[in-house]
Parts: sequence; structure tokens; C-alpha cells
Amino acid sequence: MHFAELLLRWYDQHARVLPWRGIHNAYHTWVSETMLQQTRVETVLAYFDRFIRRFPTVEALAAAPEDEVLKMWEGLGYYRRARNLHKGAQQVVAEHGGVIPSDVKELLKISGIGEYTAGAIASIAYDQAVPAVDGNVIRVVSRVKGIRENVGIPSVKRRIAQEAAALVPQSRPGDFNQAMMDLGATICVPGTPSCERCPVSALCDAYREGDAEDIPELPRKNPPRVIDYDLCLIFNGDRVLMRQRTETMLQGLWVYPMVEDHHTVKQLPALVKRKIGLPVTDIQTAGEAKHIFTHQVWQMKLYIMHTTAEAPAGWRFVTMEEMQQLTIPTAVKKAKEVVLNYE
Ligand code: SF4
Repeated sequence: MHFAELLLRWYDQHARVLPWRGIHNAYHTWVSETMLQQTRVETVLAYFDRFIRRFPTVEALAAAPEDEVLKMWEGLGYYRRARNLHKGAQQVVAEHGGVIPSDVKELLKISGIGEYTAGAIASIAYDQAVPAVDGNVIRVVSRVKGIRENVGIPSVKRRIAQEAAALVPQSRPGDFNQAMMDLGATICVPGTPSCERCPVSALCDAYREGDAEDIPELPRKNPPRVIDYDLCLIFNGDRVLMRQRTETMLQGLWVYPMVEDHHTVKQLPALVKRKIGLPVTDIQTAGEAKHIFTHQVWQMKLYIMHTTAEAPAGWRFVTMEEMQQLTIPTAVKKAKEVVLNYE
């Protein structure tokens, strides 16, 4: 029996039941696949329903203000995905009359749609026999085909993409791609796979050779940069100082002032005056927090301080009610809790 037949037979019995499955809706596929990048299925489940209820169509998403889109994404992380999805929806409305294209080449021109998402939309929503190659599929294909070179090498990547494309059947390509994702997520997992339960073990090179644990050879990652910050919760009466980030990382999200490195309580007033332009008094420590991003680790010491001055340019004093409406990154969630619990 062929690879696709074996895999689809397994999928018919074991497919994970997910709300974005079983319907041909390119918008749902786009939203779910965007959310699933770097986020676990269990987490996405709650967000997907809420997001689709709030923005039921690509037109509704395109018409929404960015702040609202970010708010619906709050806690999912990697906010660039949400901003690109939003931009992409506007592009679909402006350039395609609100109809998401079915052709991979056209899909790739849309903001936020890369090779993987294009393949997922074309195959799942439009039944096109194209692959959708993500990390799971790279792992499955390199094991099945016995590709033992480092998958970070461009020529190896191309070979995996070709092998993946050759496996996709003409009939049920969308189910096939989802079956590959499920296989990679539940059986052909990183480290030690459960080959004894695998529907395609008879066709798997790594299984025959007994070296699945060593495949794929992954590109070496640089360790994340550890940055120390003093996070300053500056109160003016019952309002707290915040700003909306313009930097690429966490763009559009609201944060409190942060100064790099750790300092003593004595050093902070002069530093805050110099960096933020505010005179502050009554500094108290308010605990510590740590947040791990892909490329950075923030080690934060939290301080509460007070001022009677107005907010400097680019900053705003917000009330607690206003703060609840803003999209605040998980990285500074602890700081938000400190503010909310401060009497
Ligand atoms: S036999 Fe093992 S290594 Fe091969 S595809 Fe199945 S789970 Fe992965």
C-alpha cells in the first residue's frame, strides 16, 4: 500500500477533532494555521473560537482597528502574526474582493502567508495537491526518506520540500497534510518517536535503520540573549505611566517604562529622570519577573515609584480601567498584576 493510503486510513480513525477541521473555509484555515505557528493546539482552541466570533469573515477582520485585533490575540504571543494577518485581510479585501486566493503563488503575495500557510490553505480549503511543510512535516519526511544531513542547509531543505510534495496525493490532499501534521505531533514526535504505533513504519527508512532519534539533524540555534531590566511602575495619583511600543518586537502593545541593567533604589531617580524625563520619589521594590522569548530572556526587577509631573512625550498616564482595555504583553503580566493590586 502507498504512503498516502496508509496515512489516510490512520487519519480516518485517529484524526484530532478540531473546530477548524471538516469545513472548506479558507479564512478559518488561515486564522487557525497562523495561530498554530509556535503555539500549542490546546491553547489555540480557546483563542480560535473567540477570534472567529469577533471577526467572522475576512471583511470583518479587515475593517477592525488594529488595537482590537491585538486585544483578541493577547496572551498568544508573537504578535507580529496578528498584525500581518490583519494586514493580509485588508489586502484580500482590497485586491481580491474579499475572496482568499486558491493559488499558492497568489497566496504568497499576501502579508503573513508564507510557504507553509499557503500550502495549508491551498490544500485544506481548496483541495490542491500541494504540500504544507512545517517543522513536524520536516521531521516526518526526513525520517521516512532517511535524510540525515542538517536540515538547516538550503539544498537539504529543498530536497525535503520536493520529497514532501511527491508524497501528497491528488485525492484528499488537505486531509493528507493534516494527517502529516497529526502524525508529527502525536507519534513521530521529536526525540523518541512511537514507531510501534506508526501507520507508515513499513515505509520508513529511519525505522528500518533504527536511528529515528538522531533525525532530523537540526541547525544549531544561538542561545537567547539575557537582558536585565528595571521595570518602573510610575504612578501619578491613581494612574500609571505606559506607552505603546513602536519597536518591531511587541509593536503596538502597551508597556511600562523599562531601563536596561539592574540598579539600586538610590540610583533609580537620576536614571529615570535621564531616560524617561520624569522626576520620581518614594521608590519601593515590587518583586521580580522573568520572561523567555525565542531570542531574548528578560530578567526584570519591579519598582513602584511616584511623580506629580505630567507624562513626557510618547507616554501616557492611564487609569486602571483604561489599562484593562489595552493589550499588554505576557512578558509584563506580573507588572500589571502589581499595578492592579497596588492600593
Ligand atoms: S516509523 Fe517512527 S520514525 Fe518513521 S515515520 Fe513512523 S514514527 Fe516516525
